[in-house]
Amino acid sequence: MKARILYTKPSVTELEVGYATDATRNGWGERCYDYIHRFEAQFREHLGVRHAIATSSATGALHMGMAALGIGPGDEVILADTNWIASAAPIVHLGATPVFVDILADSWCLDPALVERAITPRTKAILAVHLYGNLCEMDALRAIGTAHGLPVIEDAAEALGSVWHGRRAGSMGAFGAFSFHGTKTLTTGEGGMFVTNDDALFDTVNTLSNHGRARGQARQFWPDMVGYKYKMSNVQAAIGCGQMERIGELVARKRAIFHRYRALLAGCDGIALNPEPAGCENGAWMPTAVFAPATGVTREALQAAFAAENIDARVFFHPLSSLPVLGGHAGQPLAAGIAARAINLPSYHDMTDEEQQRVAAVLRGMRHG
Ligand SMILES: *Cc1c(COP(=O)(O)O)cnc(C)c1O
Repeated sequence: MKARILYTKPSVTELEVGYATDATRNGWGERCYDYIHRFEAQFREHLGVRHAIATSSATGALHMGMAALGIGPGDEVILADTNWIASAAPIVHLGATPVFVDILADSWCLDPALVERAITPRTKAILAVHLYGNLCEMDALRAIGTAHGLPVIEDAAEALGSVWHGRRAGSMGAFGAFSFHGTKTLTTGEGGMFVTNDDALFDTVNTLSNHGRARGQARQFWPDMVGYKYKMSNVQAAIGCGQMERIGELVARKRAIFHRYRALLAGCDGIALNPEPAGCENGAWMPTAVFAPATGVTREALQAAFAAENIDARVFFHPLSSLPVLGGHAGQPLAAGIAARAINLPSYHDMTDEEQQRVAAVLRGMRHG
């Protein structure tokens, strides 16, 4: 059996270990927020936003942000059918209804024309998820949002390092959410970030994130609203501080792996990788190969071929509307069609060129039966 190729694995150096050790030894009492504040400041600066709140997950950041926007029972939030359930779960938890629209054939992100058609009097927000690092059509979505008075939320959990015409993913909407789960480009084990340029929204989420205790509240143990507990710990933030010092390197490596796959598959008809349109940079969190219908290649055939080579490749997200827990429908046509002939490729920081060649060889081999 050939050596196993993992699909993700974090890159953690002595820098992160040093900070985490310091936080573990000394980051208590008066210093229990030091790394958290430092991590938030690094993130604000990197993204170019006014406010950042470190959270225990991206799901928590989305949940609090949507709650602060007033999303609740009877409301609808529009998002792409192709997504991980973490983007939809907070909508359901708030008593609102996720409305799934189909994706664009090239970016695999929500189709703005279908978003506009899905708007009803109950629509409360548009959730733009930058899938696998690919960017949503932010100009079109923001124009629709402005025309209908709807906030555009960015789930940038997969889009650290992605840039839309000079602006970083997550910095363009009413608020943005990031994930630092162990599979993501930057990791703190588990963790996330809420970001916004809206002072009032920041104040509300800040209060919600602290068990409902407002910043200016002088009375002890006196919540101003019923909040949440989605805070990041100082030890996790210490790891994040080290990762942020290496953010350029972490993103550059993801992009290099992605571009290497593009080179290895150049001239190979019938395989589309993540797009990188003019004016955009793809943070390339998850290089993904989609086979053209004419190739006849299926997800099941891809899974079998990669398993035979001991390579950990993962399936493309199932349409959320096809999950029994979210309706169990057929799924939107493109969301279902693309998922049936696509695969996520390994892309961890320390992967070797020889490993990338093994992955590319499997993809090329699919096309000759
Ligand atoms: C990973 C991910 C999440 C969830 O992140 P957690 O930190 O695990 O909550 C949400 N949305 C997208 C698009 C993701 O990829």
